[in-house]
Amino acid sequence: MENENKKIVLSCIQPTSVPTIGNYLGALKNWKYMSEDYDCYYAIADLHAITVRQEPAKLRKQSLEMYALLLAIGLDPEKNVVFVQSHVPEHSQLSWILNCYTQFGEASRMTQFKEKSQKHADNINVGLFDYPVLMAADILLYQADYVPIGADQKQHLELARNIADRFNQVYTPTFKVPEPFFGKVGTRIMSLQDPTKKMSKSDVNPKASVSMLDKPDDIVKKFKSAVTDSEARVYASDDKPGITNLMSIYSACTGLSFEQIEKDFDSKGYGDFKAAVAEAAVECLEPIQNEFNHLINDKAYLESCARTGSERASYAARKTLRKVMKKVGFWQV
Ligand code: ATP
Ligand code: MG
Repeated sequence: MENENKKIVLSCIQPTSVPTIGNYLGALKNWKYMSEDYDCYYAIADLHAITVRQEPAKLRKQSLEMYALLLAIGLDPEKNVVFVQSHVPEHSQLSWILNCYTQFGEASRMTQFKEKSQKHADNINVGLFDYPVLMAADILLYQADYVPIGADQKQHLELARNIADRFNQVYTPTFKVPEPFFGKVGTRIMSLQDPTKKMSKSDVNPKASVSMLDKPDDIVKKFKSAVTDSEARVYASDDKPGITNLMSIYSACTGLSFEQIEKDFDSKGYGDFKAAVAEAAVECLEPIQNEFNHLINDKAYLESCARTGSERASYAARKTLRKVMKKVGFWQV
């Protein structure tokens, strides 16, 4: 850490539930790779999570579990800054300021807001609408160069870039304008029950997603019941979203290309392929689950890592926030 020449990376995950294999292949796996070459800030986005109603005890438990999982995928808490968003008040502070540099019209165009407000029609709160501005604050506070995200967050990152540009132009250059970082495959894993919708950890249908902590038997069952079309040949195509999605998962877990997969399963049907995908997913998740089971029993260790993480994050965040406050003209005493 704190190597001046290293590029900075920031990414967040909400503790809304146990992460899915989609979160892992689309985002978390890249977090691990990036931690080798960059200065990485990884946050558990609990401020974002309350844009949808959460049960307090569950949210607390899920945050702790998420922290353990981040360490279980191999993130070293010494080399990376792994922290909880609400422990670093600068996120909320910068977010308010950035609200005043975001246009209502541009925020209204965010598709996630439209999707989530349909899903939670009884609670379309202002926080849900403002989510991308908080996300911009998360990123810009750390002067991040790269943001590893799944394709679902592309539009939000674009907004963060626009806000940064605008602020830099109104004043003087203050924020680094961040670039997205997508993995090669698995940037958008789809629901197993409706392959036209993305897999989400907050989906109420448990069959729609494979959680990173699902037992092998359940993983096998979920892939078996994954929705595909009536054809039986394994090949990727836009009008076969179900089988294409399974191929993405298989490819991301095994490293095999689509061409290779098509060749390997040339004379086999969907049944065989689904079994192979399940086996690959189990193999990919097993070592992470073993490490998680070990870490989750050491709450004191996890708490001490989270405390250190938030102190280190705050140190960097305060630097940016102070600059911003000065530029907008706040009286500093
Ligand atoms: P929620 O339903 O609570 O929004 P989520 O599954 O969308 O949960 P987030 O916490 O919003 O997860 O996002 C965490 C990271 O996972 C982000 O970088 C996001 O781009 C990525 N991600 C989310 N869903 C997918 C998916 N289906 N495929 C690939 N990456 C994904
Ligand atoms: Mg999401």
